[in-house]
Amino acid sequence: MHPLAKLDQQFVWHPFTQMRDWLKREPVVIVGGKGAVLRDVHGREYLDANSSIWTNLHGHNHPQINTAIRRQLKKVAHTSALGLSNEPASLLAARLVRAANQRLVGRASPRAGFSAPEQSGRGSSVPSPHLNKVFFSDDGSTALEVALKLAYEFTRRTRPASRRQIEPRLLSLAGAYHGDTVGAVSLGHIDLFHKSYSGLLFKTDKVMSPYCYRCPFNRAKPERADAREYRQCDWECVDLVEKKFAGQKRKGNPYAAFVFEPLMQGAAGMIPQPAGWLRQTAEIARSHGALLIADEVMTGFGRTGFFSSTLNSLARRSEAETAQPSTILFACQHEGIQPDFLCLAKGLTGGYLPMAATLTTQKVFDAFLGEYEEFKTFFHGHSYTANQLGAAAALASLDVLQGKQSIRARRNLEINLHDELQTLWSLPNVGDVRRVGLIAGIELVRDWRTREPFDLRERAGIRVCEAMAQRGVLTRPVGNIIVLMPPYCTTPVQARKMVRAVFDSVREVFGNV
Ligand code: PMP
Repeated sequence: MHPLAKLDQQFVWHPFTQMRDWLKREPVVIVGGKGAVLRDVHGREYLDANSSIWTNLHGHNHPQINTAIRRQLKKVAHTSALGLSNEPASLLAARLVRAANQRLVGRASPRAGFSAPEQSGRGSSVPSPHLNKVFFSDDGSTALEVALKLAYEFTRRTRPASRRQIEPRLLSLAGAYHGDTVGAVSLGHIDLFHKSYSGLLFKTDKVMSPYCYRCPFNRAKPERADAREYRQCDWECVDLVEKKFAGQKRKGNPYAAFVFEPLMQGAAGMIPQPAGWLRQTAEIARSHGALLIADEVMTGFGRTGFFSSTLNSLARRSEAETAQPSTILFACQHEGIQPDFLCLAKGLTGGYLPMAATLTTQKVFDAFLGEYEEFKTFFHGHSYTANQLGAAAALASLDVLQGKQSIRARRNLEINLHDELQTLWSLPNVGDVRRVGLIAGIELVRDWRTREPFDLRERAGIRVCEAMAQRGVLTRPVGNIIVLMPPYCTTPVQARKMVRAVFDSVREVFGNV
């Protein structure tokens, strides 16, 4: 075993890892990376098929981001945001505000089936808020902590006096995952991760999320296509959201905020929302006076792509290939939604440094203004808030992201990924292949005709990912879901290799042809 691997096994405790399993074999020790390729201590090369747990945007060792960090390093690495301002953080805040308030796509969205909200007859009379204040922190979890504390306190301060003593309540989605700090865990609804800590948490409510592949309201028999495309239902999932809000209002304590991952829930199992779900539920939440907290920790910075999630019909495909891709960076914008809180992390620095941002409105900001002795201050902050190296990396990452070359590369990768993924439908152990932009989830099942899931104890996803690593492709499963989320610089050959590794590994592990 390499000496570095030995040191790891002796001293390091890895996140979300059964360390008894970890200690059984030599870990992959990464020493280098370039583009979508990672290199280990033995000189073996791997494709980074999950962008280093969904963080990396443009590939490793990107010259523009490297240069920006080096340039900043020559000035100063870090100074506190408690009492001081700094150049890259101020520039970055302005840049994020601009990107977040881009023209919303709304009705003009190219996503298939986008007319659904209008068909539902639900309409919003509430104008979209303008996001113009940025609170920096360190990670996805802290971005959510900031949003939930602000939403909670804003609600308490601005409620009618008769309700001021009642605790504001928050609603999030079934299967929600918003991070691992205690507040973020309180918003989560994954028993495997969260149940043990229930004694530490505050109570939040959950509502059904639209998991078309396993939805009890979907009457369609399994087909060899993304379950959203052939679902047969009457948007019962949206009705349940409406009922949930109405029920809470009847209790005299309407929900203060609705927390969601837009377009796709990640750690829940790469669960994509059918076009129109987000807009409808956001409108319901707004009509009940709830604030919207959008967790774009995974979906932000172009991850949700440009086109319809399916690209299946030839007509739509040629439309996609010739369309001018918009420079939309956030998932909410695909459905014309502007939240009151936009939580960003992971890709913010291009996957280089830990940094997060919670964007919010002037109205929320104003509720924390007052004379010093009124103590209305937002008493929250972290030592590395607004870190200068992180902000410099983020500015460079935004430059790359908004450049023509990256826009073209993302569009081509989206089309390539779509095409390659079609090969997986021939595998009987692949139940659903779902993709939103540049994020794909492949659900493994015993038999696609029955949708019967594997028991988690069988480690189906883990076994497939281990077999993929043998083929030089690294990713981590979410339960029985294989995740592909390649860096934007991934070439067509590399995209093919990633999907081929899934194909061959599924066959190897389950022995089915
Ligand atoms: N929200 C979402 C949607 C996430 O996917 C994650 C991390 N996977 C988090 C929040 C937490 O982010 P972090 O791990 O940076 O704290």
